[in-house]
Amino acid sequence: MNITDQLSFENTEIAFRHSSDADLKRAYWLFRVININFFVKVGPPLTNFAMKIGLPVNGLIKATIFKHFCGGETIRECEHTIRSLHQGNVGTILDYSIEGQDDEKAFDDTRDEIIRTIKRAVKDSSIPLTVFKVTGIIRLALLEKLDGGAVLSPAEQEEWEKAQARVLSICKKAYSEGITVMIDAEETWIQKTIDALAMDMMKRFNKEKAIVYNTYQLYRHDKLQSLKDDHITAQKNGFILGAKLVRGAYMEKERKRAEEKGYPSPIQPDKQSTDRDYDATLEYCTDHIGGIAFVAGTHNEESSRFLADMLNKKGIDHKNPHVYFSQLLGMSDNLSFNLAHVQYNVAKYVPYGPIKAVLPYLFRRAEENTAIAGQMSRELGLIVKEVERRKR
Ligand SMILES: Cc1cc2nc3c(=O)[nH]c(=O)nc-3n(C[C@H](O)[C@H](O)[C@H](O)COP(=O)(O)OP(=O)(O)OC[C@H]3O[C@@H](n4cnc5c(N)ncnc54)[C@H](O)[C@@H]3O)c2cc1C
Repeated sequence: MNITDQLSFENTEIAFRHSSDADLKRAYWLFRVININFFVKVGPPLTNFAMKIGLPVNGLIKATIFKHFCGGETIRECEHTIRSLHQGNVGTILDYSIEGQDDEKAFDDTRDEIIRTIKRAVKDSSIPLTVFKVTGIIRLALLEKLDGGAVLSPAEQEEWEKAQARVLSICKKAYSEGITVMIDAEETWIQKTIDALAMDMMKRFNKEKAIVYNTYQLYRHDKLQSLKDDHITAQKNGFILGAKLVRGAYMEKERKRAEEKGYPSPIQPDKQSTDRDYDATLEYCTDHIGGIAFVAGTHNEESSRFLADMLNKKGIDHKNPHVYFSQLLGMSDNLSFNLAHVQYNVAKYVPYGPIKAVLPYLFRRAEENTAIAGQMSRELGLIVKEVERRKR
């Protein structure tokens, strides 16, 4: 049997080898609670309220949902997670997940922290990729103004210069250390500006090696085409296109805004269309693997299987540095560890940061993992299966 024939996303023994019985027990209760839609609905406002009036909820959050989905509050606190993932051949992507800031000092501090994640990755194969979010270092309202094509005031122009310098300093550091840095995709009303920044950074830094990656959200009906257009630009300008491929995280918000403001929704008409474009993009990227380096950021089993099979069919080495599978910490370990077991490149986002600042991220994970139509969520089903297996 060749090694890829051993790939099974049902193998919970490999998926949870790094989890102790106590870890599984904690995860079991966490997902049981998350499965109850009521708690996921009332949880966020209750938590925010409790924090506002100073109730000591930090400890409870840190020992439960935070412990499951985050590496820690600092890079140092993530070391244990980095080691544990590495034992299963899974890399770490340190993701400083601070959200909702809006002053220049905070943006400079976030830039410095992102640079620390790049420094931490140097000469360490357990951290093959790094990442940042543009709204972590640039004011949202400024990005909205730029995206809408409004003229900036002299003060805003100065702010924009400083903002671009932050992006440049992160990418320059990544380039000088030879570390890949991905730029997350966000809402459509700021994404044109993010795309332009990312393309500019790729033109500067991706000549010899793919250092900067932009993110393509395939729930948008125009993104397969824009990836192809960017690939042509990359070919003409002699650089490698770096692409993180995701389905997209802001569907409801996007549809609601489009409806309220009366413009056509940028989102695909249905899930099937998103899936079709996602897989077509995987195919396009593998067809052009020399000129495109990509990361498949997905928890979808069919797409992961499709990519794994396609790499084999096209004779692309599992360890080709131009292709990575990626999932989020605390989710889809059955994909991450089973893919890594048969030698594919895999890395997981390990979010970290002060508890209060990562709460919006945690609430999104809880929402994503609620039960569908009374069924157990996929994560809970896998945990139950592994607990049963260990009893035998
Ligand atoms: C490593 C990693 C990095 C990520 N980075 C980003 C990022 O930078 N930006 C970002 O926006 N998201 C990001 N995400 C989140 C991602 O976009 C998805 O929300 C999430 O992964 C769920 O999609 P899926 O491919 O795992 O699988 P699935 O569970 O199969 O797909 C769910 C997704 O399909 C789409 N969808 C669902 N219903 C419909 C419908 N009716 N019509 C059209 N489309 C539909 C939505 O995008 C939904 O999130 C990232 C995810 C991972 C794993």
